[in-house]
Amino acid sequence: MELVPIVPHLFLIPGAGRGRFPFSHCLLADSSPVTLIDAGCGVGILAELLEMANPEQVIVSHSHPDHCAGCSMLEDRPIVIPRLAADSFGRKDLLAERFVEPGPLATTWKSFVTGAMGFEDCSFSDLYDDGTTFRLGELHFVAISAPGHTKDHMALFESTTGVLISFDVDLTPFGPWYGHRESSIEAFRATIQTLMDLEPRTVVSSHMGIIRDHIQERFRRYLHVLDAREGAIVELVRAGRSTLDELVEFSPIYGGHRDNAALTRYWEGQMIAKHLESLVADGRVIMGEDGRYENR
Ligand SMILES: [Zn+2]
Repeated sequence: MELVPIVPHLFLIPGAGRGRFPFSHCLLADSSPVTLIDAGCGVGILAELLEMANPEQVIVSHSHPDHCAGCSMLEDRPIVIPRLAADSFGRKDLLAERFVEPGPLATTWKSFVTGAMGFEDCSFSDLYDDGTTFRLGELHFVAISAPGHTKDHMALFESTTGVLISFDVDLTPFGPWYGHRESSIEAFRATIQTLMDLEPRTVVSSHMGIIRDHIQERFRRYLHVLDAREGAIVELVRAGRSTLDELVEFSPIYGGHRDNAALTRYWEGQMIAKHLESLVADGRVIMGEDGRYENR
């Protein structure tokens, strides 16, 4: 396990698998109080961390298990979560119904997060909101509501150092992810703009790590992925892929369904359906009486 310096008293803990899903990068503030930010770097890495450091509290960005799978190892200290996560945080049965659908898919989801991430039920102790300030020694992180990915997703900004922890506004080439019923493309666009307007000097992304160069350009490219996906869906409808199932089968967002195909098909279906909904609202695509989509 390595600790990569970001600014004085703040370190990146690189996640397993280079922080790619189903893991994510965590951060450690070696300040007062010593604080772990997110806990999805992998239970093995977290065990190594606990040998050399003693986090006095944990701040979690949102309910996704790839950000909090390690919380069950840390329940003897305060775990602080977004207020909007409180209704289901750390409870596998409730999260399964929130992140997929009740029924067989929920069972598949539970065995996936248990097997791939070591996620177990866990509790929390405190809640935070948009505008909450975390005073970690000299670092003062302000929490910023950053919905779209999930309803409870937050970001943290430290204005003196210009460090933005953007979590799953992750600036990956894949682009934004909004595969739940509660996710929203419109909210995601607004969140990206809010974070750009902060003009951060350093961004720490949960799946890309530390980013110091071309930050505004990277945000613009990330935003553009949404337009590119929309354009691809319009073209697929024009080419005759006129039902949601046919579009999911073509997989314009994931580029195919291999690992955990039942889950990725469901999530891609949610994402495409959101694009179709806004395309219909804009009048760029119409839905025929037989439920097939066509171009206007
Ligand atoms: Zn997430």
